Amino acid sequence: MALTYAELAMVFRQRYDRGGYHAAAFYRAFFAGGPDHWKALPAFTASPRLAQSVAADLRHRPLTCLRREEQEGAIKLVFALADGMSVETVVIPMAHHTTVCISCQVGCRMGCGFCETGQMGLLRHLTPDEMVGQLHAVKVGLGMDVRNVVFMGMGEPLDNFDNVIQAIRVLSDQRGLNVALRRITLSTAGVVPGIQRLTALGWPQLKLAVSLNAAEETLRSTLMPINRRYGLSSLKAALAGYPLARGNVLLVEYVLMRGINDQEAHADQVAAFLDGLSARLNLIPYNPRYRSPYQAPTETDIHRFQQALIHRNVFVRLRSSKGAGMRAACGQLGVACNSRRRD
Ligand code: SAH
Ligand code: SF4
Repeated sequence: MALTYAELAMVFRQRYDRGGYHAAAFYRAFFAGGPDHWKALPAFTASPRLAQSVAADLRHRPLTCLRREEQEGAIKLVFALADGMSVETVVIPMAHHTTVCISCQVGCRMGCGFCETGQMGLLRHLTPDEMVGQLHAVKVGLGMDVRNVVFMGMGEPLDNFDNVIQAIRVLSDQRGLNVALRRITLSTAGVVPGIQRLTALGWPQLKLAVSLNAAEETLRSTLMPINRRYGLSSLKAALAGYPLARGNVLLVEYVLMRGINDQEAHADQVAAFLDGLSARLNLIPYNPRYRSPYQAPTETDIHRFQQALIHRNVFVRLRSSKGAGMRAACGQLGVACNSRRRD
């Protein structure tokens, strides 16, 4: 079930001729408890026929947790989907809050050579229900208090635009899971028409992250094939047009790979790309995927590149990936049980 409260209330009105009392009770119980929680509510025990109709109409397939691994505080969850495929969700507890990294596709068709998910190709899109279900499973199944949601798991959110947007509408519904838009981050490899559609939605609170990884055309096209379709100048123009609420900045992710994108010249290119954008750069040390042709940077490489950016007045933050050892950090996800995996 991935409807906003307003959508659900309309269904209750049109299909069952019931008002807000039943819809609100259902909605609250569904997201606060298990998917069957609502059946025990007086609003439904008093009308068994209504309960029966709702149960028959309800399209909800709960995710089954196949595996749970923990390392350095990060928790990787593998969920089985109804068709036997599986996806991964990462829970990252921080000092004061917990972040959940959600997957939006099984695999990804963007083909970035450094990324584990990219090696799988796209197996299928996730439905809004399957995305919302990941957060629901963490909040209700694991009983964790989640503050932030990032779409940085498997898949490219803007390649599954309508479903991701519906999932965000539901996640941020105050009557349900209630994750404020300003606590939701959508990360894209740079699908320019998707950024433009997002701009047209006019949600300045929603945080937009873009994976830059290189700010020179040839190198970026090698690392991220999407750059051949939407080059750096059209990406920059799309980012410049994205509406930002007060205090909100664009997040630009830069995965640092040893000897690939970690030189002074690269820092110059990054600074030039960011010039004129209201952005913060997140520097992420590369976690080599299985059989990766790329290497992780050393501590010295990281420090040197970070300093090079600071000298060029780039607002930069170093993001360590928790759980790197178990390949659980966002951006390293790939599920061995999906059979069409290439390597
Ligand atoms: N498809 C979206 C979101 C998922 S990838 C995107 O590309 O933005 C999330 C982030 O993880 C991206 O910034 C990506 O560049 C990064 N990433 C991918 N593989 C990684 C790896 N092996 N080590 C570190 N970061 C990685
Ligand atoms: Fe897909 Fe993002 Fe991985 Fe590229 S980095 S293959 S867009 S998940």
